[in-house]
Amino acid sequence: MAKSDPNTAEPAEVRSHFIREKIEADVRAGKHGGRVVTRFPPEPNGYLHIGHATSINLNFGMAAAFPGGICNLRFDDTNPEAEDVEYVDAIQQDIRWLGFDWGDRRYFASDYFQQLFDFAIRLIEKDLAFVDSSSLEEIRKQRGNFYEPGTESPHRGRSIGENLDLFRRMRAGEFADGAHVLRAKIDMQSPDLNLRDPIMYRIRKVHHHRTGDEWPIYPMYDFAHGLSDAIESVTHSLCSLEFVDHRPLYDWYLEACETEARPEQTEFARLNLNYTVLSKRRLLQLVEERHVSGWDDPRMPTLCGIRRRGYPPEAILQFCDEVGITKRDSVVDIGLLEHFVRDALNFGAPRAMGVLRPLKVVIENFPEGRVEELDAPFHPNDPSFGSRKLPLSRVVYVERDDFMEEPAKKWFRLAPGSEVRLRYACLITCTDVIKDPKSGEVVELRCTWDPDSLGGAPADGRKVRGTLHWVSAEHAVEAEVRLYDRLFKEENPSAGGGDFLASLNPDSLEVLSGCQVEPSLASAQSGDRMQLERIGYFCVDRASASAGKLVLNRTVGLRDTWAKEAKRASS
Ligand code: ATP
Ligand code: MG
Repeated sequence: MAKSDPNTAEPAEVRSHFIREKIEADVRAGKHGGRVVTRFPPEPNGYLHIGHATSINLNFGMAAAFPGGICNLRFDDTNPEAEDVEYVDAIQQDIRWLGFDWGDRRYFASDYFQQLFDFAIRLIEKDLAFVDSSSLEEIRKQRGNFYEPGTESPHRGRSIGENLDLFRRMRAGEFADGAHVLRAKIDMQSPDLNLRDPIMYRIRKVHHHRTGDEWPIYPMYDFAHGLSDAIESVTHSLCSLEFVDHRPLYDWYLEACETEARPEQTEFARLNLNYTVLSKRRLLQLVEERHVSGWDDPRMPTLCGIRRRGYPPEAILQFCDEVGITKRDSVVDIGLLEHFVRDALNFGAPRAMGVLRPLKVVIENFPEGRVEELDAPFHPNDPSFGSRKLPLSRVVYVERDDFMEEPAKKWFRLAPGSEVRLRYACLITCTDVIKDPKSGEVVELRCTWDPDSLGGAPADGRKVRGTLHWVSAEHAVEAEVRLYDRLFKEENPSAGGGDFLASLNPDSLEVLSGCQVEPSLASAQSGDRMQLERIGYFCVDRASASAGKLVLNRTVGLRDTWAKEAKRASS
């Protein structure tokens, strides 16, 4: 896979897919007046996740790809019980974060409640809709199933006048929930179950977050969705595969209502990722049952979660483009997403040094009180990042894992008697190991340094293979570091429809306190990203402000398992 540098203005190679090809053909043929109008239609009943990002990227991307193309943001708010303004705000923030803009084209299906009602009246007048007083249970039975045709409701023969009267009284709030529904009058014999007199309206006396108590009846998704598309003159209504079976009904409503615009529905496969769940219902359960700290827990696949974790938006867009748009369901390896995150951060994140599990090193021949200010670039190959000063003093911290008392073969890091380089600084040799007399734990190393090696190579040119990250004890900034692992242990947590909670990874969060990072991070702000050299990519958590200390989230480790797998697979 070619690396793409997000810092250069080179346009990324555009990958085609069947939807792009279809739209191209439509534009060429002058269909829909040659226009391209798409929409992203979230239901405000949860936060957006990485799956939604593919749909956002597709809808806004297709609008941007064609001259004069437009993408509307339309909240599909026809189901008031589960919906909330909290979600409306969060959804907008997430779409903007990905870099897309709907301008002034933000709509709500609830803005169309009157127009939808008028369409319904029109269908009743055409004898294409009727008020049914059967219970939901009876309606379910009337529907039949795949093998058996449906049976007509005893109320199907109501006169147009009676239907108009009942429906207007439903709207006026005269009836209790469940007393009546409005159904389309299509065909109970149809092999297509969706066409067996589907419900158009239910009585629901619930408060709506935008229309308040104005409407005691609410339209069903299938009725509202296509007509909302038509009201907005959408040309290409792109949705996920589960709606294939609903397309005949989508078209039927447009035809029966004689809408001016005739949007076309095209379906594509949803994004599935391994080691996670992408269903709002399940994500909500994780939040409500406190398996995570909230929708923006950095382990969540929500856009606010991965933003807090430190994923850059450009990595998500590159991931979406790489995965592409297909007609067949598949499961994408989460390692691919991490690969793009690493790629973007490798270009875009400054370097710093930090020690997660500090081991004290005293450089015995380094004079007390002396401080050497060493120059270190913030980025190894991008000078525009500038550089910082790294203070070196007599006591430093190194990573506990970088010391082995009885070194294994090919161990080039610290061990008794071994010489290593402190990155950007000097060479040190371990001369003594101090242990806790009771526990036997190593608590301190004694070393000597070679003053000739300061800031460069030793005078005699001898080779030293190990290079360690370190911080000066006196100058270090203390930090809490949160290490995240996959939220689920199983590749497919939802396998077998069983309890997905059973595959939660109990070790998905490890909190390290007392970590020591270099002083340049003292001024780091919430959301700042960096590479801690030799460890991984991190970002400053928003908890830093309230905690009064630096809190870092590990975004992703340095090791690219996906690239390795891909290499193995292709060899
Ligand atoms: P969920 O299953 O998570 O509840 P949803 O489809 O109910 O998702 P909506 O708010 O209705 O959530 O989704 C808005 C749009 O995003 C829809 O057009 C839907 O098809 C699309 N979408 C949702 N999940 C995915 C996914 N995993 N991959 C691609 N598109 C998705
Ligand atoms: Mg949906």
